Amino acid sequence: MRYVVTGGAGFIGSHLVDYLVYRLKADEVVVVDNLSSGSPRNIEKHIDTGVVRLIKADLSKRGEWEKSLKGADIVFHYAANPEVRISSVEPGIHFENNVVATFNVLEAMRLGGVDKLVFASSSTVYGEPSVIPTPEDYHPLKPISIYGASKLASEVLIQVYSQLYGFKALILRYANIIGARSNHGVIVDFINKLKTNPSRLEILGDGTQRKSYLHVSDAVEATIHLTVNKLDSTHGVDVYNVGNHDWVTVTEIADIIVEEMGLGRVDYVFKKTTPDGRGWPGDVKLMLLDIRKLESTGWKPRLSSRDAVRRTVRELLGKA
Ligand code: NAD
Repeated sequence: MRYVVTGGAGFIGSHLVDYLVYRLKADEVVVVDNLSSGSPRNIEKHIDTGVVRLIKADLSKRGEWEKSLKGADIVFHYAANPEVRISSVEPGIHFENNVVATFNVLEAMRLGGVDKLVFASSSTVYGEPSVIPTPEDYHPLKPISIYGASKLASEVLIQVYSQLYGFKALILRYANIIGARSNHGVIVDFINKLKTNPSRLEILGDGTQRKSYLHVSDAVEATIHLTVNKLDSTHGVDVYNVGNHDWVTVTEIADIIVEEMGLGRVDYVFKKTTPDGRGWPGDVKLMLLDIRKLESTGWKPRLSSRDAVRRTVRELLGKA
């Protein structure tokens, strides 16, 4: 099988490439990535063996890269700017890299005769949850960040392309995904701050933000499981939450990191960034996805949120 992974040099994308090569024994994986946050190092072992080809290109611009999608069995569209935090400051970044790029990928698929897509969407499409755990089907889609809006806009484009051109697509709404090679998010941020100053940690918001975390090994296994078992039989577009059963607070994450780094007393300094204690404008304070639909397909997470956090800290510190 021939796969295309956009954003395949990034954090989740590169783990996905590993699974496509090792588990699915891919004949070829084409990675299209502009390397804005990804790195060829994440996939170089596969490039060396000739199974993976890296095309450096910006998906927000039409171009030669489009030809590389022709003949692909499945496109995994994982390229995006994933930083919710920057979206209120520079909304254009998410419009270009998330919405325009998705449109260009869909056009390249249509023109290249490719009709199967797996898309990395996000829990942020729900906005403030009115139901927790939040289900896929009857919950309103009212994002509160430009990032969430960009993912929802992408989902809608995919729905319409599917209706008009007969695409089959899986939309996967991921919770917070963490693990080795992650390059952004709260764990990376806290570790970097504590390396600079081991006695003081600035925490954005009031620390009570409570969210669900899934280790990247679980996230990618769920992705492969759904792709293998559900993509072909999907009529049009199917949507799955991909997350965990439990959640942890930001302060609990800080405690785990301090413990794993073997630090003594650390003063937590809570920085008020919004009146209601969010980490930044557009931050969803409570996030726990209902994963019963995913579990009904015969898959469940191996690591809890708390265990995923601990394992990630160890991986990022080079202890695991
Ligand atoms: P990442 O930044 O590590 O990966 C994104 C990759 O896309 C990078 O390699 C980057 O260089 C590439 N990219 C960005 N803009 C591009 C463009 N215009 N053209 C070509 N390549 C481009 O982030 P990640 O955490 O691995 O996220 C992967 C996907 O999963 C993203 O779509 C993200 O929105 C989604 N997602 C991530 C999480 C999470 O917690 N990490 C949660 C929900 C959804």
